[in-house]
Amino acid sequence: MKLRKSAAVAAAIAALSLTATACGGKDGSAGDKPEGPAKSGGKELSYTVKKDVSIDSSVFKAAKKRGKLIIGAKADQPYLGFEDQSTKKRSGFDIEIAKMVAADLGFSPKQIEWKTVDSGARETAVSKGDVDLMIGTYTINPERKKQIDFAGPYFHAGASLLVRKDEKDIKGPDTVRGKKVCSIVGSTPLQNIKKPKYGAKVTELSKYSECVAQMLNNQVDAVTTDDAILMGYAAQNKGKLKVVGETFSDEPYGVGLKKGDAALQKAVADAIKAHQKNGDYKKAFDATIGISGSKYQEPPAFTDPK
Ligand code: GLU
Repeated sequence: MKLRKSAAVAAAIAALSLTATACGGKDGSAGDKPEGPAKSGGKELSYTVKKDVSIDSSVFKAAKKRGKLIIGAKADQPYLGFEDQSTKKRSGFDIEIAKMVAADLGFSPKQIEWKTVDSGARETAVSKGDVDLMIGTYTINPERKKQIDFAGPYFHAGASLLVRKDEKDIKGPDTVRGKKVCSIVGSTPLQNIKKPKYGAKVTELSKYSECVAQMLNNQVDAVTTDDAILMGYAAQNKGKLKVVGETFSDEPYGVGLKKGDAALQKAVADAIKAHQKNGDYKKAFDATIGISGSKYQEPPAFTDPK
């Protein structure tokens, strides 16, 4: 039974990635390929790489010495952090934020070494030094701040619900009692939906794409996580999935970095602020999650560091 189930999930995941490469609209509409490079006015987005950068940070110095900045990212979140499995190219809003930060630290896109890190592995990857920076729909919160530091927030998302197009009963978090809801180990929306007040039957997996595959397979009734992530899946599966209800949590995104590295934390914050000011941030937004339906919001004021 267990085996049959996982074979079905594998088949659905395969179908999902097929959809990702097959549903190309030419006009930049929501059905466009999420794995293509982010473009503005027909031109691929790019950022001027700074020269002779020096930061009093051991992580930065080690990166400079190796000639590569190691960035932890998501790989299965269309329009946010996505890796095309055939070309190995990464795309999405977080990928653009990462390229902006890298450029201001003196690293070209070719000098970025990407590492896919799932939600539940982020704090460990950052604190152990497996990645220099973690940029992947990463909510800043006090629990995580005990282990690592953040630079941000650079964006605010909020938990929402993704359901099948024909779903009638689930309209928001108050309507999931007794329903099967999937979310991800180590994510804040999972903690949220497990609260007894919602009464949901929760399935915990390690990747969002696995939750989406289970939903397309009728094994779960809903997926919960940040609205920006869910809108990406809805756009990728047009006519099959929809996002319902208001958001029911605040998810301020930050760049995760090793605890106590104030110089690098400031440099990362300064980089994002500079690209927000010069218009790159808005262009990147419009070319990524703007396509999948997120509404542009003025960048939030930084709290880490102020
Ligand atoms: N922003 C939430 C979090 O950091 C959910 C998205 C994710 O799992 O990356 O836990």
